[in-house]
Amino acid sequence: MTNDDGIYSPGLASLADAVTGLGPVVIVAPDRNRSAIGHALTLDSPLRAEEIRKNVFSVDGTPTDCVNLGVHGLIDGKPKLVVSGINLGANLGDDITYSGTVCAAMEAALMGFPAIAFSLDSREFTVDDLARTSAVVDYVVGMVLTADLPQGTFLNVNIPTGSIKGIKLTCQGKRHYGEGIVQKIDPRGRSYYWIGGANPGFEDIPGSDCNAIAAGQVSITPLRTGLTSESGLQLLAAWPLSFTMD
Ligand code: MN
Repeated sequence: MTNDDGIYSPGLASLADAVTGLGPVVIVAPDRNRSAIGHALTLDSPLRAEEIRKNVFSVDGTPTDCVNLGVHGLIDGKPKLVVSGINLGANLGDDITYSGTVCAAMEAALMGFPAIAFSLDSREFTVDDLARTSAVVDYVVGMVLTADLPQGTFLNVNIPTGSIKGIKLTCQGKRHYGEGIVQKIDPRGRSYYWIGGANPGFEDIPGSDCNAIAAGQVSITPLRTGLTSESGLQLLAAWPLSFTMD
């Protein structure tokens, strides 16, 4: 189990609670919040892992580092399943490409393990959310453990806040991020910038993850590690694929 909000996130604790009883659990998670770190891997500095409790490792790296270190260094044998989250904040549409939560699951899928990313559409965790997310985690993990996912396929699961109005199989939607960059001046007179709006909107695409969450439904999107564009291949097939160098 890992996440991108860091080892002390209540989302990670709730995910641990939800899967306790399914089998031995090993947590390998970043020592601090590494949200929006994407699929980054640490290659130019050493990694340290501190076992802060039995089978709970705090790592000074990224979520992808944690999956690598967990699978290849810290746990005995191979995991039956890798779960990531529960992220505080939904990972919908374009978010997926930035999300350390989702990319940790992608890393596990690249290694050939079944993997699920869980996110909650909220920046905080209430007692009510705890019960709801547990039920969702229980259901999805149970399904994945009984039915093999295709190689290279992993699941992106988003959970709404408030009462759950069903569960939907979805495709990746499309976010509208704010385009504004906030520019400020620091005490030494130099500019600094903040990227990213507070509340991104989304395109109204029926069947998408964004629409499901907006409708109060749990969204389950099967994603894949292979990124080749089929329509791109068809288009580029008409290219002559030769060029001259002067
Ligand atoms: Mn996060």
